[in-house]
Amino acid sequence: MQTYPHLLAPLDLGHVTLPNRVLMGSMHTGLEETKDWNRVAEFYAARARGGVGLMVTGGMAPNREGGVFPGAAGLFTPDDIANHRIVTDRVHGDGGRIAMQILHAGRYAYSPECVAPSAIKSPISPFRPKELDEAGIEKQIADIATAAARAREAGYDGIEVMGSEGYFLNQFLVTHTNKRTDGWGGSYDNRMRLPIEVVRRVRAAVGADFIVIYRLSMIDLIPDGSTWAEVVTLARAIETAGASILNTGIGWHEARIPTIATSVPRRAFSWVTKKLMGEVGIPVVTSNRINTPEVAEAVLADGCADMVSMARPFLADADFVAKAQAGRAAQIAPCIACNQACLDHTFAGKLSSCLVNPRACHETELPIIAAETPHRVAVVGAGPAGLAAALTAAERGHAVTLFDRAGRIGGQLNMARVIPGKEEFHGLVEWYETMVAARGVTLRLNCDATPDDLTGFDDIIIATGVLPRDPAIPGQDGPNVVNYIDVLRHGAAVGDRVALIGAGGIGFDVAEFLTQAGESPTLNLDEWLAEWGVADPAAQRGGIAPEGPQPEKPARQVTLVQRKAEKLGKRLGKTTGWIHRATLAMKGVTMIGGVNYERIDARGLHVTFGEDRRDPTCIEVDTIVLCAGQVSERGLADQLRERGIAHHVIGGADVAAELDAKRAIDQGVRLAATL
Ligand code: NAP
Ligand code: SF4
Repeated sequence: MQTYPHLLAPLDLGHVTLPNRVLMGSMHTGLEETKDWNRVAEFYAARARGGVGLMVTGGMAPNREGGVFPGAAGLFTPDDIANHRIVTDRVHGDGGRIAMQILHAGRYAYSPECVAPSAIKSPISPFRPKELDEAGIEKQIADIATAAARAREAGYDGIEVMGSEGYFLNQFLVTHTNKRTDGWGGSYDNRMRLPIEVVRRVRAAVGADFIVIYRLSMIDLIPDGSTWAEVVTLARAIETAGASILNTGIGWHEARIPTIATSVPRRAFSWVTKKLMGEVGIPVVTSNRINTPEVAEAVLADGCADMVSMARPFLADADFVAKAQAGRAAQIAPCIACNQACLDHTFAGKLSSCLVNPRACHETELPIIAAETPHRVAVVGAGPAGLAAALTAAERGHAVTLFDRAGRIGGQLNMARVIPGKEEFHGLVEWYETMVAARGVTLRLNCDATPDDLTGFDDIIIATGVLPRDPAIPGQDGPNVVNYIDVLRHGAAVGDRVALIGAGGIGFDVAEFLTQAGESPTLNLDEWLAEWGVADPAAQRGGIAPEGPQPEKPARQVTLVQRKAEKLGKRLGKTTGWIHRATLAMKGVTMIGGVNYERIDARGLHVTFGEDRRDPTCIEVDTIVLCAGQVSERGLADQLRERGIAHHVIGGADVAAELDAKRAIDQGVRLAATL
């Protein structure tokens, strides 16, 4: 059995000893804004029961102007204190510890009332902030200190002062956002006064026996960001001001370098935190793209930090630590860093959840309860929808048989895993394999299930997925045309010049697959850092390489084509679409929208533009790959219907339009929860 001696070692903070080195990092889930405090409490309590050493809440505003958006949750009134008490009582009742993050958004606040050191609008907000005067700055400090005192009153074990990611305190630190000429601007000593004063006043407000975490931006990844010498100076001053723990922030929100997406290598920034080790006496926490106990253990064993922060992995699996402790690490549902159900939801104003675990933030609404009468359940199709349904049904005590015509489970996930930058899907398929065995699901692989195979079951779930859509373009049956399945699953030969028909998620994936020569940068940290232009902050201010991004030469010349006249990739994930677009731009991919497909011949793909079919053009290529979306595979469902056999249809077999694994898994879990 694998043990995690560094990760599971206690951490003595003086007045309190944390049971292990795992911190659940702050996440804005939207739960607090539902005002259903029982629901908030159950979210955190489930993670407390799962053994995490210390949790940090989503960011709580210290005042109206500092809220991330109007109405953002905070801790302003006696009622607020009572509500937060529900959470802390429940967490403590389940043996956990919880700190409240105080988040002042500064110029990132989505509000015309936002305030900042200088009146400079951020590139990610429509509002120009008001420049604070001396009294205004004092008010912000006092409000943050008051919020900390209220947090103590509400029963929290500590607070985290959010000083990174380009929020309010971070905005004072760098000349990029601080152009002041008074005592709060100019020299670094002046610019760092605010964070230091905040920590000093917070400590004075909460007393000695209370955890004060300061989240410090270790590498800003923006022009005119902090130097490494400034980071160290600040860290020491924050320690002196009274912080108990230094947490890590990587990159401002406006940075154009990915920091947490799935294509970012695992533990990509632990080398930055390592530089701070030995510079301060308080524990240092590292973060970003750490999602398994093995990686977390290695980070600590390598001396990169005293503690590891993971946030999204606790959406994927509340029992991360307990399973690691019990030697069941292979059963930890992996966070694949897709952002699809967490951050993408947050930025769309929706409640967070998790693609892999739809119960995240829905603990009270979607309970998985043992079935009163065990059924015999057949699930056909071992893609995400079928797997989710089968595992949930089995968890409830049903006897489940899972059929798939392929030789292994995973369905479309097996195509995703070959895409450079999507290596996390390997872990997801392996987790499903582990769980299918652990929950005793009977697997019938290489079996094209027929209605006769499905007799004798109490419930039949059809999750047969999708088939590629036929775009019916004249000439598409020529030898120079293949589809995405031929390329990703069967390794079809593709020439040097390629046109992709369709620019949805799969068109973008295939473009990344075909332009990548050799090893994926996600598996090679040095290459990835060079590709995105990340430098050592000790050498370059803010960690921005002066030479800019240095992508590898593309393996092929790719043209991505769609009929819609809008920007290609516009409908990709809210928080990750820009990364895919930037990656393809770096690989020299040509993007053409607004076309009509006229025909394909040996020269290539013939298109025209607009309703009047003007500007006939031949995109001269060797190979054309069809990525034109999908239609539902309902053959078996239709046969069952014709025979009058009751069944459920889920996933792509149900709705192919806008299909993604998030919806498929959610639908599978919800159905199985009701059987
Ligand atoms: P999709 O997103 O629906 O895109 C289909 C593409 O085909 C569009 O570009 C569409 O553009 C084009 N198209 C549709 N009908 C066509 C026709 N009759 N002839 C020619 N072109 C046609 O589907 P997908 O790319 O196959 O992806 C399927 C799902 O998997 C996605 O919805 C996504 O959720 C998921 N996925 C997600 C990711 C991700 O990164 N998050 C990656 C892969 C897959 P026009 O209609 O403008 O031509
Ligand atoms: Fe991780 Fe994706 Fe789940 Fe978010 S939705 S927690 S990124 S697996």
